[in-house]
Amino acid sequence: MSGPNKFGRASSLREHRALTDNYARQPVEFVRGEGLRLWDADGVEYLDFLAGISVCNVGHCHPRVVEAVRAQAGALMHVSNLFFTRPMAELAERLTASSIGGRVYFANSGAEANEAALKVVRKARPRGEIVVVHGGFHGRTYGALSATPQESKQAPFAPLVPGFVPVPPAPDAIAAAVHEGTAAVLLEVIQGESGVIVLSEEVLRAARAACDAVGAFLVLDEVQTGMGRTGTLWAYEQTGVVPDAITVAKALGGGLPIGALVCGERLAGVFAPGDHGSTFAGGPVVAAAALAAFDILDDPVLLARVRELGERLRESLRELPGVLDVRGRGLMVAADVDADAPGVVRRALLEQRLVINATGPGTLRFLPPLVLDKSHVDDAVERLAAVLP
Ligand code: PLP
Repeated sequence: MSGPNKFGRASSLREHRALTDNYARQPVEFVRGEGLRLWDADGVEYLDFLAGISVCNVGHCHPRVVEAVRAQAGALMHVSNLFFTRPMAELAERLTASSIGGRVYFANSGAEANEAALKVVRKARPRGEIVVVHGGFHGRTYGALSATPQESKQAPFAPLVPGFVPVPPAPDAIAAAVHEGTAAVLLEVIQGESGVIVLSEEVLRAARAACDAVGAFLVLDEVQTGMGRTGTLWAYEQTGVVPDAITVAKALGGGLPIGALVCGERLAGVFAPGDHGSTFAGGPVVAAAALAAFDILDDPVLLARVRELGERLRESLRELPGVLDVRGRGLMVAADVDADAPGVVRRALLEQRLVINATGPGTLRFLPPLVLDKSHVDDAVERLAAVLP
């Protein structure tokens, strides 16, 4: 598709002024996507290495997801959680069979999946504290925000939900913070929003051991790391640690909004009717899309390619001048640069038509769709090189 969208550029920019100012949006309006490609309202083509912040892991508008949505939308769109639907039940089975067993609560987003996690562990261990680590990010709703110990995000919205205990992501600090009055430790295996900080195996093992010692729960937030992003379906699979619950969202719906809390055996029976709920959660259309996304991403060949191409991306980035540090796992990658990272992101977008983002003033993040090949990696690195000072 080329040319302006049906509103024309000028009128759509006017409409954008009706939106609140809580996002630092780039001056680009996308109208179409396919695989790793996006097109703007003027028909200009872009290479996407962000995937809607790790949502479009299957690529844009994957035909199998589109077909699943079309078919389900024509059959049944919504009935509420007062009834069973097959896509939801099958998706719950896929989620539990591929991870820690147990049972699934569906939500509509990552923050909502984490809210459910906070409620289920508090119900299981009444009034218990929740230990979280500095640099963690779990969402913007009040419970999830309270679990996100970052001054700039929390301070304007005080008072927060009580009962959260932030500690440095260090084995000793976690061990010291967990006691009989602890309900859970909540962690990301790799901190995405803080700049792809990989927590060490020792930290995860210390959290597991501390929880086991007092009967508390280890909850891993796989919202960004899940659905193949790190080269295994779930990031925890590459650690020696098995959690009591995981939260999932982003790429789960193949591009549509859905979240899930997988409660392992110890937590599976905690929620009773009336404890929690959400009108739209796990609806048939998003669940059908998620089943298609699962079929595409839960594939050993694809996952091996994610590991291999992640390594290629990291190696290539390390060779670029001005790149100070490169880290990550699979295709969840960050590079610290000796430059103004938001400026690099903007120039990459506007001059090189490469979509990436910055997690801080000096850190670039790369989260491409997982359906890429090595030519996409080389193309992205070449485009980036052209805008690094
Ligand atoms: N948890 C993690 C690890 C995330 O990266 C995010 C979003 O970036 C969230 C939770 C919140 O997800 P959502 O924006 O869908 O509420």
